[in-house]
Amino acid sequence: MDSIGTNLFRVLRALSGKEFRSGEAVAKDLGISRASVHNAVHQAQALGIDIYSVRGRGYRLVYPHSWLDAERIQDALGGLGYRVHWHEQMDSTNGRLMAMGQAGVEHKAVLTTEWQTGGKGRRGRAWLSPLGGGLAFSILWRFNRSAGDLSCLSLAVGLGLVRALRQMGLAGAQLKWPNDVLLDGRKLAGILIELQGDVLGPSMAVIGVGVNVHLSEGVRGEIDQPVIDLVEGLGEAVDRNHLLVECLRYLHEVLEHFERDGFTGLRAEWEANHAFHGCEARMIAAQGESWQGRVSGIDEAGALLLDTATGQRRFYSGELSLRGVSA
Ligand code: ATP
Repeated sequence: MDSIGTNLFRVLRALSGKEFRSGEAVAKDLGISRASVHNAVHQAQALGIDIYSVRGRGYRLVYPHSWLDAERIQDALGGLGYRVHWHEQMDSTNGRLMAMGQAGVEHKAVLTTEWQTGGKGRRGRAWLSPLGGGLAFSILWRFNRSAGDLSCLSLAVGLGLVRALRQMGLAGAQLKWPNDVLLDGRKLAGILIELQGDVLGPSMAVIGVGVNVHLSEGVRGEIDQPVIDLVEGLGEAVDRNHLLVECLRYLHEVLEHFERDGFTGLRAEWEANHAFHGCEARMIAAQGESWQGRVSGIDEAGALLLDTATGQRRFYSGELSLRGVSA
């Protein structure tokens, strides 16, 4: 396998239970040496995975990890037509699924991983999705529409995620224009959509989603914005299989809607779920220029409407970041 040692995932799986396990017992079960177990534990710790290591008792993952089961996920989705592909580790589910799409992989292919090591945000920024700490997945959707017709797709996807998260018990999940999901004003999930297609269609969208499940303090410290995860939001452990199934189920609803009618019919619900709707906020351009005003909504093209002292301004997604302004 890749850059990461062959024993790493096997050892981590062996340490995922509630009980401590001795290096000797794990080595025996896996048919490897004790030194290999020890090395895998050290490698995992160096990669930021929290593992208890107690003399006389052995090892155990600090945070129980729910491993993904592609077959179970696919079965739970019944007749929706998704084909779930899974790898233990990969750089970016979006990057890999785009390549699979170009090579002809079918509509509704889903790619997910235990550990995404090179997750992408907008403008070349990084999305952190550590092993056990996040859920990262991408969906390939082939549209008859042109890529230019998909400008509101990330808004629709955000809405699907909020529906899924609310249904899972996070009543306070909200959207942040254009592509984030917040809880308590902190970032819980992000979306990155990459498109390919002809001016007149058809087009192919790779819809990438990252949801924070349980981030260690170390990972939180690496993120330069306020963050939250599902375990904190729900106050209980989360089964990542269930999370993925619910996300896909609700994304399916909005994607089918979007394919048929575009963003029409979703806009009012989107606005009602926008964390900054009716609030004072600042729009900041990558070059540093900024505009302050009251968020009055979004238009049919998904542009954010900001009522400023000098009149209403319309912002199309791109090199822009929206931030709240406290009264
Ligand atoms: P902005 O907040 O400026 O609008 P963005 O939300 O569009 O930016 P993205 O490009 O979607 O940002 O995501 C990348 C950014 O998200 C990173 O620069 C970092 O600040 C933050 N980030 C990275 N990993 C995580 C994570 N696991 N959870 C929350 N935020 C993260």
